[in-house]
Amino acid sequence: MKKIAIIGGGISGLYIANLLRQNSNYKITIYEKNNSVNLEKGYGIQLSVNSIKLLNKIGFQNINPKEKFCPNKVSFYSLKNKDKICDLNISVFNDNNDKYTTLQRFTLIDFLKNKLPNNLIDYNKKVIEIKNVSKIIQIIFEDNSSIECDYLIISDGIFSKTRSLITDKEIKPKYFNSIVVRGNIDKNNLQNIDHNNISLFLGSNLHSVVYPVNQDVQFNFVAILRKKLNSEELADYSLFDSKEFISSTLLEISKQVDSNIIENLIDIKCFPIFSSTEIFQPKNKNTFVIGDAFFAFPPTFAQGASQSIEVAHELYRNLENQNDQFNIERIERTKMIDRKSKFNYFVFHLSNPIITWVRNLLMKKLVKNKYFLKKYLGSIYK
Ligand SMILES: Cc1cc2nc3c(=O)[nH]c(=O)nc-3n(C[C@H](O)[C@H](O)[C@H](O)COP(=O)(O)OP(=O)(O)OC[C@H]3O[C@@H](n4cnc5c(N)ncnc54)[C@H](O)[C@@H]3O)c2cc1C
Repeated sequence: MKKIAIIGGGISGLYIANLLRQNSNYKITIYEKNNSVNLEKGYGIQLSVNSIKLLNKIGFQNINPKEKFCPNKVSFYSLKNKDKICDLNISVFNDNNDKYTTLQRFTLIDFLKNKLPNNLIDYNKKVIEIKNVSKIIQIIFEDNSSIECDYLIISDGIFSKTRSLITDKEIKPKYFNSIVVRGNIDKNNLQNIDHNNISLFLGSNLHSVVYPVNQDVQFNFVAILRKKLNSEELADYSLFDSKEFISSTLLEISKQVDSNIIENLIDIKCFPIFSSTEIFQPKNKNTFVIGDAFFAFPPTFAQGASQSIEVAHELYRNLENQNDQFNIERIERTKMIDRKSKFNYFVFHLSNPIITWVRNLLMKKLVKNKYFLKKYLGSIYK
């Protein structure tokens, strides 16, 4: 029997644990630094059909239908003149069982956690040291306990400490020169949009997204604003929780975003966006990195969670086939999604009126162009 230690009980760690436990030759444990998995309410998540297909392999289609929503279109609007630019039909990539889905983040995490036996997750376990002795890996925790395993899966998120412990070279994510403002909003406070779609508002150095997170009245609001921050500001995490910072950011986005939305937002949070600059592949053949620790994408293709699930699934298949490295296609795919996420960011944030006019015209044409849709979206969603 092979002992597998998974570090971090986020989306990627919980998903791969669900896959690996189907094989009785593995003894798996998740080591999570906190005293529970993060079931904080309020965050929405978009899952494109590529990850829904993989989640359905472990029964995701059976979650309460009231707890999720399947939007058919993304409607693009201009924040400047409030006009609709075009509709993009994302349902063309769906099939009968697998559909683009929006939901609360905690609904997904709760589903992944509840499918695992309680004793599979060991809480309050923060890794502080990793030693390789021959083929065995020894993991030492902050509470002075230690374990040995045959395989180590690192899934402790974007600021992965465990990744730093196994390499001489520190790989740090980079500030994406943007911050997020997120909150919840009641459907009744969202006027002039189609409540069945994801609504994407394009502004100057800013874009915002609104989408339903269940069949009830709750919607998730996210605004991404270009903002320069110095290293002291980035190091001071309390800054983003401060009332002054949140108020000044809301004031900044209210220059473009509908005041009715801003006034009715609840559970507002601000945080800086970081993304990866390189893909990390460990040298040790028994150690693997997945999720945001493998690569954290800019949020402008909404692929963070979907890619965490895809990469975890690929690692599961690799382990079953005794393959010890992600293949070149995975590396190329990661780079391609990163490039497209950055390109979306550029296109969504244009300021010049003539260039935005051309962009809007092009978008109207491209959303109807099957070849473009297949190349740009299909290559990610299929
Ligand atoms: C608050 C938040 C909101 C998000 N919203 C969206 C969204 O709307 N759409 C979208 O597509 N993506 C979103 N993302 C991104 C997406 O959720 C991530 O891409 C995805 O969660 C990555 O999963 P992960 O398992 O790699 O990391 P995480 O979900 O960050 O989980 C990492 C886990 O590891 C644990 N951990 C950390 N360090 C250690 C350690 N040293 N020892 C043991 N355990 C450790 C953490 O406590 C955590 O439980 C969001 C991310 C966050 C954090």
